[in-house]
Amino acid sequence: MNAPAIVILGTGALATARRIQASYVERGAHAAAGVATDCQVHALQGRVDADVSYGELGAHLRELYARGTPIVALCAAGIVIRCLAPLLSNKGAEPPVLAVAEDGSAVVPLLGGLAGVNVMARDIAAALAVQPAITTSGELRFGTCVLNPPDGYALADLGQGKRFVSDLLAGESTRIEGDAPWLEDAQLPRSASARLAIRVTPRAWDGREDELVIHPRSVVAAVASDDADAADAIVARVRAALNAQGLAMLSLAALLAPSTSMADPALAQAARLLEVPLRFADAGAEPGESSAARLLHTALRVPHETLRDDAHPNVALALSPLAIDPATLGRARGRLTVIGLGPGRAELMVPAARTALNEATDILGYDTYVKMAGPLRAGQRVHGTDNREEMQRARHAFELASEGRSVVMVSSGDPGVFAMAAAVLEALEASRNDAWAAVELSIVPGVSAALATAAQAGAPLGHDFCMLSLSDNLKPWTIIETRLRHAAQADLVMAFYNPISRARPWQLDKALDIVREYRVPSTQVVLGRDIGRPGGTLRTLTLGELRSADVDMRTMVIVGSSLTRRFACGHHGAQWVYTPRWYE
Ligand code: SAH
Repeated sequence: MNAPAIVILGTGALATARRIQASYVERGAHAAAGVATDCQVHALQGRVDADVSYGELGAHLRELYARGTPIVALCAAGIVIRCLAPLLSNKGAEPPVLAVAEDGSAVVPLLGGLAGVNVMARDIAAALAVQPAITTSGELRFGTCVLNPPDGYALADLGQGKRFVSDLLAGESTRIEGDAPWLEDAQLPRSASARLAIRVTPRAWDGREDELVIHPRSVVAAVASDDADAADAIVARVRAALNAQGLAMLSLAALLAPSTSMADPALAQAARLLEVPLRFADAGAEPGESSAARLLHTALRVPHETLRDDAHPNVALALSPLAIDPATLGRARGRLTVIGLGPGRAELMVPAARTALNEATDILGYDTYVKMAGPLRAGQRVHGTDNREEMQRARHAFELASEGRSVVMVSSGDPGVFAMAAAVLEALEASRNDAWAAVELSIVPGVSAALATAAQAGAPLGHDFCMLSLSDNLKPWTIIETRLRHAAQADLVMAFYNPISRARPWQLDKALDIVREYRVPSTQVVLGRDIGRPGGTLRTLTLGELRSADVDMRTMVIVGSSLTRRFACGHHGAQWVYTPRWYE
């Protein structure tokens, strides 16, 4: 389940919100990797500072709800209901929604009965040392939601489940067939001779109305490698093999494939379509077995039965008596995601970068940026380093990812702009290492410093522009001079990254001398320092006024073109700098 958003309106709720958050963080320390438990406190902008700020409660709750994020709202239940009302008639999958009194004295589950809202209510109430206000009859009577089995189990049919629970509430008893450890403590009316039965089985439900069927995710399907196969064909083969054995699709725990086909996109797509994790193993050498069956032997450490089916030689099925944890099966395809944090503030980070951070097992980057990427989950491994060891860091990321870990490499701004993405690709190209090539590599863009600075100033990059790094660490200064001269001559707006540092004290003055040969002193200049970070400043001035002492290594320098202009809006209004879209 996604981590819940704890939503507050004012300072009065902050202490309770932090207590709830702390209980999730504590639980996160014990959670398996990949379970997002980094819940954040969302607070009304201008009223109180927390982890995430929002502008309007109704719109924010509706957005969270639509995204399927569990909501813990520290305000009146009525407010939450009114805010979400427009979305409720459309009955689809809904996340858990709870109202909690701001002093922590009441915990009221409102929505998401089948998504575990009552379990959340019990957990939060326990953390706050109060009783939850559970109103679901089945839960009250039986002490558990029969229709919401734990991880590793799936309900065969919700409609049938609801009928079954109403029969129980009407006074019938039930038998339990199969292994249902989570029901042992439930106060279910049981009887060995009951008409109704809860059946825990991987076998497909045959439509009998007096049964509540729950499938343990206890079947693994191994597919032999065949590069020509499309995703649909793989899915069809797995379905046919399960059908032939009378097994339910929902009993599938994972798809297993040979390590040699780790980078095959059709397999990844097939696993997505089947809604199961994809795991990899190397086929063992058992004589007389198909290659798919040999995969199962190496990957499955739990006792299991291999199901033979000569009609489907490319798929082998293994059935275990209990639910299988896919994380124990072979290994995952490792991932390396290179992300940009944006200039600093959480809202300026793209959601895909946040998702990658939430899912990461390992986070690499320059210490300052890793800190900016927080809050991280307990259990996520952080490999912070000095800023200079970029190639070494890139190689380290591939080493970790090729062991099957989910690695995130953080850069500030955009990872492809004078940052880690190019270093990662350089390391990959140089390595010729098959294990590195099998890593699922992706690059998530971010808001670069020039764009964040430009937006705050207005639109100085509104026409043709270029981005230049003034650092001569990795390129000769003569190249920088030539590029500056051409860019200045071409009347491009210029964004200077790495304008100056202690080790490079004279380069900026030299660069400005060149620019001044082509641009008049009244040319507009924007200086953005620590934009999007605490204490950030923006200055607009002219090229004639600009001194290198106004600039440090945390500054973005934007030098306008001959057409870049500045104006004040009204008497007390803002100063805007922009470059018009036209040219004369
Ligand atoms: N990948 C980053 C740039 C790294 S180079 C990006 O896309 O933004 C580092 C340079 O970027 C700094 O020397 C500075 O010139 C600029 N910079 C980075 N973050 C900044 C910020 N928040 N405000 C102003 N300039 C910044």
